This record gives sequence, structure tokens and C-alpha cells, in this order.
Amino acid sequence: MARYTGAVCRLCRREGMKLFLKGDRCYTGKCAIDRRNYAPGQHGQNRKKASNYGLQLREKQKVKRIYGVLETQFRNLYERAEKMHGITGENLLSLLERRLDNVVYRMGLASSRKEARQLVRHGHFTLNGHKANIPSMTVEVGDVIQVKEKSRSSVKFKGLVENYTRTAPRWMDVNIEKMEAKITALPTREDIDLEIAEHLIVELYSK
Ligand code: SF4
Repeated sequence: MARYTGAVCRLCRREGMKLFLKGDRCYTGKCAIDRRNYAPGQHGQNRKKASNYGLQLREKQKVKRIYGVLETQFRNLYERAEKMHGITGENLLSLLERRLDNVVYRMGLASSRKEARQLVRHGHFTLNGHKANIPSMTVEVGDVIQVKEKSRSSVKFKGLVENYTRTAPRWMDVNIEKMEAKITALPTREDIDLEIAEHLIVELYSK
């Protein structure tokens, strides 16, 4: 399936909640969810109650959209989560959080996961001192993610450090002056501040 290139606010309206896909705009009064919180399209305001299957499908779509993951990648992550110890739904969310693009976003070096993905692809980061330009890489405890030396003097990163206001999650230790983060633990369900009913995704894939 091709990557969605349409208006991203429609995706939030379709899911009926903020997915924070547009960076700073999501926190302003311009947010489409604050202004028109109903599904897009001609019949958006008259949608029927969803079936069980519909709810499961919507939950999966919502999570894919939040993390910007396509179906095949998502399915692969689910299969990985199934093989891990613990609760599959929680494992899945933990694996999504551990993606390199999400880590950069959580570090506060990008205003959205989409921007973080672009920064990673453009080669601005290293993982344990080595080039890391694949957004789907999974970080492990002890990994160090850093802005590449050459990129640190750029206007963008300098500006980010000067105006840094973000609070990093407790599973990473951010040193913003050094533009780096060390992964100190694996993210657990409690660390993921998103309204997600992951059991619905497990039900969907278990059919
Ligand atoms: Fe979603 Fe952000 Fe658009 Fe609001 S502004 S609808 S949170 S992408």
C-alpha cells in the first residue's frame, strides 16, 4: 500500500481524536479536531455505530497513523510482539515506541514523527557512533542516539537546543547540550501517553 499523501488532519478527524501529525499546529486553535470533530466527507456527521470488527480496524488504523507505519511493517512488528514474553498488545506499542524516528521525536528534536522520520532519513543521527538513517531501526537499552557532529552546528539543531522545552520520557536520558539520548529502559505501557485500546488490534489479528 502506498504512503498516504492527502491532508493529514482528515486522518485525525476520521479517528475522532488528535493524532498529533502536524507538529506545533496541533497545539493551537487551528487544529481541525478542535474546530470540526466529526469524520470528513459528505456523510461524516451521520456515521452509523461501528461494528466490533469496525472498532478493531479503526484502532489498528489509528495506531498505524500515529506512528506513520504501513501495513506490512505493522504486521511484521505485530508478529515480533507475539513472539516476545508478556502481553502482545503492550509489546507491540513498546516496539513502535522504540523505532528510531519515534525516539528522535520523543527526544524533542522534531515537532512530529513525520519530521523526525525525515531528519533520520537525511542522515542527521548516529546510533552508538554509527550512521543511522533507517527510521524503523529498533533501539535497545544502552543505545546512544546522537545528532551527527556535522549537523550539530546547523541553524535547525542550534535553535532547537536554545528553545528546548520538551520533557523526555523516563525511559531515556536526554542531554540536550550534547544533542544525545541514552536509552535507559524499555518503554512500558505506562510510558505511552496515547489513548489506544491495543487489545482490539490483537483481537483483529487473532481472527
Ligand atoms: Fe491532527 Fe494536528 Fe491536524 Fe489537529 S492539527 S487535526 S492534531 S494533525
